[in-house]
Amino acid sequence: MSAAEEAGVFHRARGRTLDSFSSEKEREWKGPFYFIQGADPQFGLMKAWATGDCDNGGDEWEQEILLAEQAVQAINKLNPKPKFFVLCGDLVHAMPGRPWRKQQTEDLQRVLRTVDRDIPLVVVSGNHDVGNVPTPETIAEFQRTWGDDYFSFWVGGVLFLVLNSQFLYDASRCPALKQEHDHWLDQQLRTARQRTCRHAVVFQHIPLFLRSIDEDDDYFNLTKALRKEMADKFVEAGIKAVFSGHYHRNAGGTYRNLDMVVSSAIGCQLGKDPHGLRVVVVTAEKIVHRYYSLDELNEKGIEDDLMDLLKEN
Ligand SMILES: [Zn+2]
Repeated sequence: MSAAEEAGVFHRARGRTLDSFSSEKEREWKGPFYFIQGADPQFGLMKAWATGDCDNGGDEWEQEILLAEQAVQAINKLNPKPKFFVLCGDLVHAMPGRPWRKQQTEDLQRVLRTVDRDIPLVVVSGNHDVGNVPTPETIAEFQRTWGDDYFSFWVGGVLFLVLNSQFLYDASRCPALKQEHDHWLDQQLRTARQRTCRHAVVFQHIPLFLRSIDEDDDYFNLTKALRKEMADKFVEAGIKAVFSGHYHRNAGGTYRNLDMVVSSAIGCQLGKDPHGLRVVVVTAEKIVHRYYSLDELNEKGIEDDLMDLLKEN
């Protein structure tokens, strides 16, 4: 692989789309398929969490390297291959400008380069990637390292929207960028509403809610007013599901017809879930998903009942 090609692995998202898929050919429904969702490899959090110093800890990430390798190994073994592997943010623990960020990023990219080249990587930005209060500089750094921070793409008749949820969390230091993001999102939702797509799906790091649309605000969800506004917009545009991470636990719920899916982490667990990945099967009628531990996915692969859905038409 040439240096340019190697750098290109992480720059497939540009011009607000993903160049791994030809948008013309992919607009048509061709039958069921599946993809893999992962979240929060967050290199450095396990050490930081163990030492109780989340802001300044995280000087080792050997365990996370092994977990990410295990995740890639499990994905590369899958047959048939998933259409893509989406990583829903918090790639590394060190915030912009903090120590070890460069090394953590290099180590993660080294592991991610081993993903089968036929399985495109889709990268979503998290709060640790662009900062809790992002700035034009932190967003630019993300784009240089991982490609666009928000974009959309089509796969087999399904429209996928990748959002930058930090614009929804705190855009006080990048109001102009947030405005562009929101304008882009409204356009995308208009496309979704025209129903030329079989389904429309959103990826964003921070969940709209963890269990219920009416739950209280906390660190892990979006504020009540905003979440309701977003969820209504999504439902009205016909979005079927939102996949997110950030919580480091599995959770989720439904609101009207919207499935809010919160997946636990590849890296540090804050609850009792195993390190894992989510398998998402898209059929003509529905979107079915199941979380697998890395061990289980490596040893046994995807269960037959999910695989059988791929045979439907
Ligand atoms: Zn996060």
